[in-house]
Amino acid sequence: MNQDDIIYILSSRYGLSVTSIDRLDGYISTNYKVTTSDRSYILKVYAYAPAIHADISAENQILSQLQGLSWDIPSPVQALDGTSLIVDDTKHVIYRLLTYVNGNLWVDTTHSPSDIVLLGEQLALLDKKLSDLSASIISSRSLPWDLANFLDNTIHLAHISDPKQRALVSYYIVQWKTIVLPHLPSLKKALIHNDANDYNILCVDGAPSGIIDFGDMVYSYVLNELAVTSTYLAMDEEDPIEVISHFLQGYHSQAQISKKEIDLLYYFIGARLCTSVLQSAFALKDQPDNTYAQASNRGAWDLLAHWIKINPTYAKNTWRQALGFESAVVDQHLRKRREKYMPAAYSLSYKRPIHMTGAAFQYMYDAYGHTILDAYNNIIHVGHCHPKVVEAGQVALATLNTNTRYLYDVHASYCEHLLSYMPDHIDQVFLVNSGSAAADLAVRLAKTYTGRTYTAVLQHGYHGNTSATIDISHYKYGKKGGAGKSDDVIELDLPDTYRGKYHGDGAGTSYADDAIKTLSSVGDIAAFVAEPIVGCGGQVPLAPGYLTRLYSVVRDLGGICISDEVQTGFGRTGTGFWGYELHDVVPDIIIMGKPIGNGHPIGAVATTKEIAEAFNNGMEFFSSFGGNPVSCAIGQAVLEVIEEEELMSSALRTGDHLVHLFRSLSQQYQEIGDIRGSGLFLGVDMITNRDTKEPNPALAQKMINQLREKNILVSIDGPYHNVLKIKPPLCFNQDNSEYLVQAVSNILSK
Ligand code: PMP
Repeated sequence: MNQDDIIYILSSRYGLSVTSIDRLDGYISTNYKVTTSDRSYILKVYAYAPAIHADISAENQILSQLQGLSWDIPSPVQALDGTSLIVDDTKHVIYRLLTYVNGNLWVDTTHSPSDIVLLGEQLALLDKKLSDLSASIISSRSLPWDLANFLDNTIHLAHISDPKQRALVSYYIVQWKTIVLPHLPSLKKALIHNDANDYNILCVDGAPSGIIDFGDMVYSYVLNELAVTSTYLAMDEEDPIEVISHFLQGYHSQAQISKKEIDLLYYFIGARLCTSVLQSAFALKDQPDNTYAQASNRGAWDLLAHWIKINPTYAKNTWRQALGFESAVVDQHLRKRREKYMPAAYSLSYKRPIHMTGAAFQYMYDAYGHTILDAYNNIIHVGHCHPKVVEAGQVALATLNTNTRYLYDVHASYCEHLLSYMPDHIDQVFLVNSGSAAADLAVRLAKTYTGRTYTAVLQHGYHGNTSATIDISHYKYGKKGGAGKSDDVIELDLPDTYRGKYHGDGAGTSYADDAIKTLSSVGDIAAFVAEPIVGCGGQVPLAPGYLTRLYSVVRDLGGICISDEVQTGFGRTGTGFWGYELHDVVPDIIIMGKPIGNGHPIGAVATTKEIAEAFNNGMEFFSSFGGNPVSCAIGQAVLEVIEEEELMSSALRTGDHLVHLFRSLSQQYQEIGDIRGSGLFLGVDMITNRDTKEPNPALAQKMINQLREKNILVSIDGPYHNVLKIKPPLCFNQDNSEYLVQAVSNILSK
């Protein structure tokens, strides 16, 4: 439409003489701000369709009924013929004139807490009025932006190209299905504006003065209304929960919000953010230069990245308190209850134990609302509650759970997938339920194959909690409560180049020479078992050259080389999928556990056909749970996430960054001795001073307890209890690394 057309329509049909015309952005209509000598209007021009006519006619009726509220709302302007919509049959368009709502956009203005309270009040008053109205056409609208249809947006996940971002959105989808869905039928529904965002709210001197754009009105959960406005109020805010509190207080003072609505709001906001990025991804697919989609996308992604760091309990309790509800009750007797039934041999971390209630990726949530950065739990390899793993498990559990005495596809596909990461000659896999069961089986395999009994192990090594694996774990049999070394175990020095007896270039060879002397004196050894970086020994990487030399001698003596990859496997060390790749060797048996199931109990042993064949001696091997379809599906999902999110290279990048940060810090503090390890399997050796390298267990202990007070998880290990163990989920990022090292620095500075 050109200007003359507009001037003509307004004068002939509305009797208005226009002094200026400005074109504005519009979604389904073309919009013009038209001004006369005494006021302004919005002229909306729609392509004619009966459905659109009916829809905007109903919308106009509602707008007319909403007049009289204390803030300004567009009012339909009647044409000279008394109608509020004009159909132009020749141009096939509909004209609609609305009064112009004056004010500045909320987004362009700064606001005091009382402005935000007032916004809550105004919106509540609008919603109260809306709740008395009905329009069947509007009630039957089905919009992707209505959170009642949130899950329909899942189809756009494929358009989010970054797999980590996709996982973040999927996380909220899984939370929605798990936490929100069961409550939806009991939530209050009414007609709502459904898009009270910061571009649709007008203000004067910071205080809300009007609201526009009723095109997204739907009959849906009133909680959507709160979620939409909360989402936009939260953008770019340092403390979004606080800002939202003000808004909720205002709203609640005029229209009651239920406790259940408060408790679900965190997830509704997450869902709104996800709808926003999913819709943007869908739009950007066809129009990569769509600046509107790009801009709204950026804000939503930033807030989502912030949102995942907020413990839902913190949000819930803060909002409950703001509205005068009591906080969620925490069981203060949990520790006592545990102590009653849980044998004292179990340990509980920290002087002030942590009561966990949830987790997401590298963050854990406690019962009191804290968010805890997990720099320690390597069992959760691809991230806490990773949605791909969770959903794989849920689907499998709902489909079939049986055992390896039957055929099922996922067993074959998982074993094939897992073996694709092994050297060619390792082509057999046993699936069990723990690292201990895997290590136990690995030693049995070696003993059966060789017909021998001697097993060589490293000092300070740990391989499991069964009788047989305790016997090969110096960390257990050789320490407090241990029964000492059994006769068929050969103990070798830990080839530690920092604190051990050999240092420098030739250390590996010297340690290997010593080990060879010991092994040769025994002769008929069945197996040599070691981790490539000895975790319980204090994250000690075996001296370079040690394994190459030792593996060849073990084989010459007729023994089997076993690599315990329970901690170091699945890309954690960053340079190879398996820790042994750091040492340029190839084992005969690989033990797997922890990361393999991202927290689901899976253990595995992979070996050669020859070794597996020898085990087939007439005694059936059966594990009730090992290799069940649920575990296989979960194991498969873990591998897929490692691949899609390129977690191995990210472990290397983040690990290198962490090492760099710790090295810089060590220039300042001589209490930081060795910084060692690879990828995201690191150890920081705390000492009293550099000359003596005297271990400083007191400082290490203080450090992990103070880090815990700062909501960061790190642990201690090593024979002197002085090594900080850092082995976070592989989604741990550069920001997390900086946060961790800064916290360590702050503690040291005291
Ligand atoms: N081997 C190593 C190297 C381990 O670290 C562990 C567990 N800490 C195990 C085996 C035993 O695994 P699980 O606890 O799953 O039995």
